[in-house]
Amino acid sequence: MPEVSTSTSTRPMDTLKERYEDVKRRVESAALSAGRRAEDVLIVAVTKYASPEQIRELIEMGHADFGENRVQQLTRRVAAVEEFLERHKTMTPSRPVSLPPKVRWHMIGHLQRNKVKKALELTTLIHTVDTLRLAEEIQECALRREAPVDVLMQVNASFERQKSGVAMPAATHLAEQIDSMVHLRLRGLMTMAPLTDDREAIRGAFERCADCFGEIRKQGIGGKAFNILSMGMTSDFEIAIECGANLVRIGTAIFGDRQHLDPDPDRPDGEPDED
Ligand SMILES: *Cc1c(COP(=O)(O)O)cnc(C)c1O
Repeated sequence: MPEVSTSTSTRPMDTLKERYEDVKRRVESAALSAGRRAEDVLIVAVTKYASPEQIRELIEMGHADFGENRVQQLTRRVAAVEEFLERHKTMTPSRPVSLPPKVRWHMIGHLQRNKVKKALELTTLIHTVDTLRLAEEIQECALRREAPVDVLMQVNASFERQKSGVAMPAATHLAEQIDSMVHLRLRGLMTMAPLTDDREAIRGAFERCADCFGEIRKQGIGGKAFNILSMGMTSDFEIAIECGANLVRIGTAIFGDRQHLDPDPDRPDGEPDED
């Protein structure tokens, strides 16, 4: 697929490498000002608008963690990356490369129950478990696996009505239920900030999610493995890190404006869900 050449803008950062380095610097300085280290914050590069070429380039820079929000798209991405890595073994790279030991995919979008099986085959971490029924479906699909499935519970920490995320008052109870399932390993929480420019409203949501995280941890739910707090995207990752996020999901700031035109990234996958 040809790379779509965009930027006629006068932005100082026009290459993927420059944007990526800049995001890493900003993550590091947010971490430092929150009294943590850059290594304590994992950057998941969200590829929903990235071109295949950009994904390959980021992998060649050593980046290992990628996120997609639809299973269909994830399937295509994973296949393309695996083929690339396979091909890489036999070619002489035209630029200096430092391939990561392993490329990991994160499922960050709403997961329909009829897509669970596929999602489990493709990902290392599912960020969006928000109902008991979904947790049960994962448990069901994971029966024959050796290792448990790592999941985050998505919480709705904003006061706006969101499509996804367990309501705050029900969060601890659902966390207990997920934790009791032998094939699931509850690794932490994920949240999305409310859709607003109001920085204080965004901070408030991140703080509530962090409090909820602390409360669940205090109760010992999930044990030592409960240690991931996934919050923050392009427009708010610095606030999220200040509030305690140790995983940020960043698309636009790394890949630039839409390179790859997914017809409708927020539309659920294919067949209707039974929910
Ligand atoms: C698209 C998306 C992101 C990244 O969004 P940007 O604003 O492009 O950084 C993060 N999390 C989820 C769940 C997303 O769907």
